[in-house]
Amino acid sequence: MIQVTRPFLPPADEYKSYIDEIWKRQWLTNMGPLSSELEMQLKEFLGIDHLLFTTNGTIALQIAIKALELKGEIITTPFSFVATTSSIVWEGCQPVFVDIDKESLNIDVNKIEEAITANTCAILATHVYGNPCEIDKIDKIAKKYSLKVIYDAAHAFSVEYNGKSILTYGDISICSLHATKLYHSTEGGLIVTTDPLLLKKISLMRNFGISGFNEFGELGINGKNSEFHAAMGLANLKYVSAIIEKRKSLTDRYILNLKNLNGYMPLWNEYSAPNYAYFPIILDSEELLLHIMSELEKNQIFTRRYFYPSLATALPYLENKSLPNADTISKRVLCLPLYYDLSLEEVNLITRIILRVQNNNKWSS
Ligand SMILES: *Cc1c(COP(=O)(O)O)cnc(C)c1O
Repeated sequence: MIQVTRPFLPPADEYKSYIDEIWKRQWLTNMGPLSSELEMQLKEFLGIDHLLFTTNGTIALQIAIKALELKGEIITTPFSFVATTSSIVWEGCQPVFVDIDKESLNIDVNKIEEAITANTCAILATHVYGNPCEIDKIDKIAKKYSLKVIYDAAHAFSVEYNGKSILTYGDISICSLHATKLYHSTEGGLIVTTDPLLLKKISLMRNFGISGFNEFGELGINGKNSEFHAAMGLANLKYVSAIIEKRKSLTDRYILNLKNLNGYMPLWNEYSAPNYAYFPIILDSEELLLHIMSELEKNQIFTRRYFYPSLATALPYLENKSLPNADTISKRVLCLPLYYDLSLEEVNLITRIILRVQNNNKWSS
């Protein structure tokens, strides 16, 4: 059986050596030595000055919105994981969906300005599949209208933009270290800001607002993570480069085999290099997609309609909004299996089945 993704696991004895340390120290959570060590190693690996390790990427988003004191409308993308939108609603703000660009699948920067009202306070954009948004244009618009910018970089671990970590852009960026992501700590997230005062506030917020013995400096929540999660993060970090390299070779094979696909792949930002977190294809029709999916399933190969449906038409707590590109792309996008243990032979098998289905006259366009 081939799943769409499979979490990377480090050699068990390497993980266990961290666990043995936890047993010796009996310090299980609350910013322990492994959590601090992980934050330090990640700063070095990513080349950034400040970051905070959190429970998960969703709490990181919620803390980001809270820390920037956002109220009112937040301009966002309908083509993302549900946490991007639900965090906005959870924090009492209103998401305003702007359509996506058909090539990058990121928020269409040319449609942001027309969505701005007197109540707009921020832009929350996702670097979809790790592919950077048009950051310079978003920054320009944000400055012009005095808006805050949060980037959901959940997919973008290790991505650089203009030679700098993607996580250093916007007022705040967040990343997810969930087991299904490129690099993970089982569950986990990161919050990054380059503003030291904001960082201080976020670090208090992450720990109930506790600022000292019997002292509270902020409204806070429990957004910290445990030593066990930090252990997984530390054990996995050594393998990130190997993981990315392997995923690159699988991706290259997909691209080579699928050059006659009745569809296309998203266009990567020209100021950045891919991290190979996902392999999405956009097929010419939903009908073709459904036939490919079911034929692959007959062969025990499982793909995922990621992201389907458009968040602007999917959520019972929001009014549906039709957006032409998001609607059509979400119906036609399919993520193919991509993970460290996948083999080139398995990629060949997957692409053979896809091409066989599309070349069957009945379904080709
Ligand atoms: C995974 C993901 C999140 C949420 O991260 P968790 O760590 O699972 O809470 C948020 N946004 C996007 C785009 C994601 O893919």
